Amino acid sequence: MRKKVEFVSDKYVYFFGSGETEGGADMRNLLGGKGANVAEMTRIGIPVPPGFTITTEVCTYFMQHDGSYPDSLANDVRESIARLEKTIGRRFGDVDDPLLVSVRSGARASMPGMMDTVLNLGLNDETVKGLVARTGNPRFAFDSYRRFIQMYSDVVMGVSTEHFEEKLAAARNRAGVNEDRRLDAGQLETLIDEYKAVVRDHAGKDFPQDAGEQLWGAIAAVFRSWNSPRAVSYRAMHGYPDEWGTAVNVQTMVFGNMGDDCATGVAFTRDPSTGEKHFFGEYLVNAQGEDVVAGIRTPLPVNGTPGSLESVMPGVYAELVDVYQRLESHYRDMQDLEFTVQNGHLWLLQTRTGKRTGRAAVRIAVEMVDEDIIDEKTAVMRVEPTQLEQLLHPMIDPSVQADAIARGLPASPGAASGKISFSVERAVKMGRSGEDVILARTETSPEDIDGMNVACAILTSRGGMTSHAAVVARGMGKCCVAGCTAMEIDAAAGTARVGDAVLNEGDEITVEGTTGKVFIGRLPTVDPELDDDFHRFMGWADEYRSLGVRTNADTPHDARVARRFGAEGIGLCRTEHMFFGEDRIDVVRRMIIADSRAERLAALEEILPMQRGDFEGVFRAMDGLPVTIRLLDPPLHEFLPNDLSDIEALAGRLEVDPARLKAKIRSLAEFNPMLGHRGCRLGITYPEIYEIQVRAVIEAACSVAKDGAVVRPEIMVPLVGSRTELALMRRIILDEAARVLKRLDTSLDFMVGTMIEVPRAAITADEVAAEADFFSFGTNDLTQMTYGFSRDDSGRFIEAYLEQGLLPGDPFESIDRAGVGALVHMACQKGRATNPDLHLGICGEHGGDPASVRFCHEIGLDYVSCSPYRVPVARLAAAQSALG
Ligand code: PEP
Ligand code: MG
Repeated sequence: MRKKVEFVSDKYVYFFGSGETEGGADMRNLLGGKGANVAEMTRIGIPVPPGFTITTEVCTYFMQHDGSYPDSLANDVRESIARLEKTIGRRFGDVDDPLLVSVRSGARASMPGMMDTVLNLGLNDETVKGLVARTGNPRFAFDSYRRFIQMYSDVVMGVSTEHFEEKLAAARNRAGVNEDRRLDAGQLETLIDEYKAVVRDHAGKDFPQDAGEQLWGAIAAVFRSWNSPRAVSYRAMHGYPDEWGTAVNVQTMVFGNMGDDCATGVAFTRDPSTGEKHFFGEYLVNAQGEDVVAGIRTPLPVNGTPGSLESVMPGVYAELVDVYQRLESHYRDMQDLEFTVQNGHLWLLQTRTGKRTGRAAVRIAVEMVDEDIIDEKTAVMRVEPTQLEQLLHPMIDPSVQADAIARGLPASPGAASGKISFSVERAVKMGRSGEDVILARTETSPEDIDGMNVACAILTSRGGMTSHAAVVARGMGKCCVAGCTAMEIDAAAGTARVGDAVLNEGDEITVEGTTGKVFIGRLPTVDPELDDDFHRFMGWADEYRSLGVRTNADTPHDARVARRFGAEGIGLCRTEHMFFGEDRIDVVRRMIIADSRAERLAALEEILPMQRGDFEGVFRAMDGLPVTIRLLDPPLHEFLPNDLSDIEALAGRLEVDPARLKAKIRSLAEFNPMLGHRGCRLGITYPEIYEIQVRAVIEAACSVAKDGAVVRPEIMVPLVGSRTELALMRRIILDEAARVLKRLDTSLDFMVGTMIEVPRAAITADEVAAEADFFSFGTNDLTQMTYGFSRDDSGRFIEAYLEQGLLPGDPFESIDRAGVGALVHMACQKGRATNPDLHLGICGEHGGDPASVRFCHEIGLDYVSCSPYRVPVARLAAAQSALG
């Protein structure tokens, strides 16, 4: 069924130009980011080529009405063209002096390179002559026309650009030149004829000569590109709704490729990689904008070096500096600008909030507070929580001496090792099979998005700091080295040559995005030092948040890392992870295969001192902060070997009959181990396991307390579904603790609580709460059991759900508010109704996901608990939730 488009505006087209503007920065939903910003720039007197924006609502209408438009649109566009003609003093389709336009997409949020663009529109066999006459530059005019044919035919008529590239390469060969810009006007004219023949052959019709027809073709193509596979995939990745739609911007062309007094460039008002306050950008003389972004020619810096814009065109540079300063103080944020210089005249094509690395985001936020540009609350809202993870990313261990085989541009920080892959397809395969993969390409394009997604680092041999690879990697928070020119990649052969060395697909390399270096082999990495900016910034976040943040940590090392990141306690210590140590796994196995309680107890007595030592270490590391220790949870067979030779070796070590061991392992196998003999069911069938664990916890706590430290243990029972289960477990725990405390003749404050991870426990939380001092929501299992999606196998089908729009995202990553979330919310309310002092937290993976943290804040949990590296993410997400 067709939905009706609800128009919020009765205007479909907004004009901007020559100081007059109908739009503004606050109209981003309707005009898209680009449309809103060009309107705003015009309003504040920045030189912007005039044009008009067709609203995002028209896109939505277009999508819902099989490619047709609202009735009055044709007239509105006609009027806007007329207004543009009047402003510019040139007419569309005029054979003597044609008005040429660009037609570009522009959604609410920037989606770099994901949708289509057409440039130089308005050229045809006749108007091109007018352009020759006006500019006196036939080479430029014919080159613009041939670029237009190529771009338009690809975007609008579906003629692959490869066919044109072939003709272009042949023309270069014929002319004996190796660069397109060396082709002269006559050679380009011949090429245009060949291009037109290509269009006829592949599209079955002639290239359109009518400027109006060209315009409507381009408008439709840009609207259609909202649903191109790469745009859809980008939206899914960033969680942008399909309903947004894109605006279409029709804007007077300005040319950076009309001669040596022309240029085009991209600049950031502060360094997008480090955040340093200095104007940073790249440009090319005599080039079109696409040449900079596509990385086809390596651009030069705008300032600071010989050959820079500053030295080549000092007047234009001074004007650009004035513009960037005005834009930054107007928007009160770091801006990403696109500019063109046409015959010495500066034009701004675009300004938008600049994408930046996590490190840059924090530094810019902190420095802008110091510069009185923004306040602390705004600063806290300025950094994406997940971006913080980049600051915490590892770098190559500085004590390791290694020689880089090549060095490119430090496009996005961090360091990563993995197997090199030269093809997106192979990278995706390797990534899916769980390998760390580094995608190495000559340059990337939006088609490479899936490969970039699975890669742990991206490496390109061409392109600058503003190339597609650099921009996208930074946005993804992935380490990237761009423009590594020493590396010659042969993607078809699956090899790369660097000097004398040859790298083959699958070879291991290490990439350091912070310095731009590339190394052969895997190098060890270390955690970064956190700087003052980070601590100040996080201090502001902590002032505003009400939600506590704990960590999931099983070892003293993880506990210490998490404390450094600001964890306020341990929300989940999975004791089973302590069982896997090489020195103890065999004792644990002896406990599991025991045939009698006596045998089991004997093994458990051996485990006891080890567990006690583990807990002491964790208590000391957390020094006075609460530590939630969960009693044994996983099905026991997880601890036993599967492989025949491993089973035989184990039988030898344990001095048991191999046949008996095999039979025991067989007997422990379950059809649905996740729903089987695990969690508190282990404590019900083998209470001695839990008793020994409790003994270890209490003895460790008493021993640390004796040294004068404050210890706050919280003993947690997993997989509870009913009050009766928890009542029994609580009695076992309290009895054992009482025995230990009596023996040690001491006292200790501790809590006993339960995970809520079985739907029944959530539904009967009022009853369960009668036996609990705290609840901790195990949303991994709760999601599994609520959806009935296996945690371990959901990868096989979740993707299909996502592709078909059946789920907004993976419910194991971000909480399903309507289902799992509703259970959590209900359990909180019911639990607190019975026990108003009930302490509430979450320890499933969702505890480190910003959207889920927001949910936890909204329903009034006391804390979230997440992996150590996500602690800062959760702290910031909690602050942002509190701020609105
Ligand atoms: C959970 O189920 O959410 C949980 C934290 O426990 P585990 O992942 O260990 O099953
Ligand atoms: Mg669980």
